[in-house]
Amino acid sequence: MSSIGRIRGFSDILGQEARKFRFMEDRAHSVFSRYGFRELRLPMLEHTELFARSIGSDTDVVQKEMFTFPDRKGRHLTLRPEATAGAVRAYIEDKLYSGGGLTKLFTVGPMFRYERPQKGRQRQFHQVNAEAFGSASPLLDAEMILMLWTYLRELGLTDLTLQINSLGCRECQPVYAERLQDYLAHTDRSRFCADCQERAQRNPFRLLDCKQSQCQELMRGAPSMLDSVCSDCRSHLDTVLDSLQQLGIPYEVNSGLVRGLDYYQRTTFEIVSGAIGAQSSVAGGGRYDDLVRQLGGPDHPAIGFACGMERLSLLLEDPGPEVTDFYLAVLDPEGFSEGMRICEELRRKGWKGEMNQETASVKSQTRHAHRLGARFCLFLGQEELARESITVKDMSSGQQSQCGKEHLPDMLRQ
Ligand SMILES: [Zn+2]
Ligand SMILES: [Zn+2]
Repeated sequence: MSSIGRIRGFSDILGQEARKFRFMEDRAHSVFSRYGFRELRLPMLEHTELFARSIGSDTDVVQKEMFTFPDRKGRHLTLRPEATAGAVRAYIEDKLYSGGGLTKLFTVGPMFRYERPQKGRQRQFHQVNAEAFGSASPLLDAEMILMLWTYLRELGLTDLTLQINSLGCRECQPVYAERLQDYLAHTDRSRFCADCQERAQRNPFRLLDCKQSQCQELMRGAPSMLDSVCSDCRSHLDTVLDSLQQLGIPYEVNSGLVRGLDYYQRTTFEIVSGAIGAQSSVAGGGRYDDLVRQLGGPDHPAIGFACGMERLSLLLEDPGPEVTDFYLAVLDPEGFSEGMRICEELRRKGWKGEMNQETASVKSQTRHAHRLGARFCLFLGQEELARESITVKDMSSGQQSQCGKEHLPDMLRQ
């Protein structure tokens, strides 16, 4: 019978890659909890409308990249392409604001987008996300960026650059939209891709982050949002930049930084690594001050970020082989139950190890202990059973010695 393969763009994460993922998750828990963030576990499936209304129905994500399908009752469901929309839904639905003050949440898990798979980009990919609700203060922006920066540094990453921009607010975005329309009026629209021609009137912002090269070329001369922001937005950004400077976080203001989702306002940022070329953005985020209200909740401003775990993984150092403390080779079938007891006692003391379940020669078991990377190979044969002892072989030196069972933990400690 033929075997069944994986779905394109979906991968099995195992071995060293799985250990890197565990490391990224552990560091996220450790760093974010120091900043007062609590874990939120969100469902993978949401109503399609949640994403259409938050990310924006003119975005590439919603138009081309979502895994959307009807369930058995014909309802439109979507595998989440990002985490913010679900977090906002939970914030509103579970009234996470009822305690007052800030609500700070983080979530880790898979996201789904129907994109062309390539190195560092899968259709099921994974993100570490953090979201903070309930304050419009620029100090919160600075603290979010600081937390992200700390996280990436604690993963061991260097050669990082923070790029930052302001996308304006509900007051000044319409002003900018007009300037953009003016610019487009003087541009030959027929040279844009079909999508951009279609959305130019409705949502000119989306032309700024179209991935087609002809559109990027045409938009190169467009006015920048940063030149159109109102004085409140400008002073908000200045305060963020001031704080970053005081915190010692180097930044570049990049007026071309637009993020491909409709809900971003004011501060937006990306962290770029010099180490992975074209896929250089490893994390990004920004404010979405109107989103909670737009999705039917209270008028609470918020900010968040996401880190792409597949891309981060490309930058992480190889964690090296898994450490195994011992391998117990039972050489006589009579010794299996005694072997189980010995293993269990060692494990209870915190040692990692395993034993054979079927008899095999000394040679093949020693080879197996090597393959596992065990520090010690323990032998339990007829002779050892009679003497209530164990033969201990130090796998790095090759030295072998006899040891009373009760002294075994001390022996491994050396
Ligand atoms: Zn503004
Ligand atoms: Zn386009």
